[in-house]
Amino acid sequence: MALEVPGEDPIVFDLGTGLRLFGDTQPTDGTFKGTALVTHIHWDHVQGLPFFPPIHQVGAALDIYGPHQEEGPLGEVFGGLMCRPYFPVHFSELEGDVTFNDVTDEDVKIGRAKVKVRPVPHNGPTVGYRVDWDGVSVAYISDHQAPHDLKSIAPSVLELADGVDLLIHDAQYTPAEFAKKETWGHCTVDYAVHVAAEAGAKRLAMFHHDPSHSDEDLDRLLEMARCAALHVGLPEVFSSYERLSVQLGE
Ligand SMILES: [Zn+2]
Ligand SMILES: [Zn+2]
Repeated sequence: MALEVPGEDPIVFDLGTGLRLFGDTQPTDGTFKGTALVTHIHWDHVQGLPFFPPIHQVGAALDIYGPHQEEGPLGEVFGGLMCRPYFPVHFSELEGDVTFNDVTDEDVKIGRAKVKVRPVPHNGPTVGYRVDWDGVSVAYISDHQAPHDLKSIAPSVLELADGVDLLIHDAQYTPAEFAKKETWGHCTVDYAVHVAAEAGAKRLAMFHHDPSHSDEDLDRLLEMARCAALHVGLPEVFSSYERLSVQLGE
């Protein structure tokens, strides 16, 4: 997923398989410059990096932010995944420059974008991001372990999503699925709506769909979410999908 402001270097959220499609829209002549805000290093959030054509050029640069790992600095741990025999090329052997920044609970400036990093409950070190850029705010909370009561919300999560124009949030399960997978690190559609409403978000994008759900299942979940949103006064909820583009601001 990518944030783009005309005339500025893009910011991508995580390095999942969607990075390949985004790569098709970016220069492959060595002029690519961008930033990746990585929530955590589970496979589904990092496996796209080798398949990002712009970084296979001398001169290209990708600066990666992500949570500090108990096993060591982020770059070192990431390198342990992208190396032989799992993959033939270590990130340091790519033609473009890949750099890493460990972050956990801080505010950073990326170009003209103000970025807030805060811890998010999940399995293992995980953060969420809020980007305030060009008069627009977006929060990205991709994997969020809901509490047992499905009501309480971590203050760090509320801070990230406070009044945002767009909240991109985990919405993986129905209540019945959550009951069976309560500790798998994710939340229900209703919980996503609850978080968005409590934080005063203007729009909610349902994200991190369950791999076993069909398009019809997702339509049904969206209907559930719209009912729940009406109930709590959340102005808009929609389901995210591949190649979806959302215009924010003027
Ligand atoms: Zn995860
Ligand atoms: Zn995930």
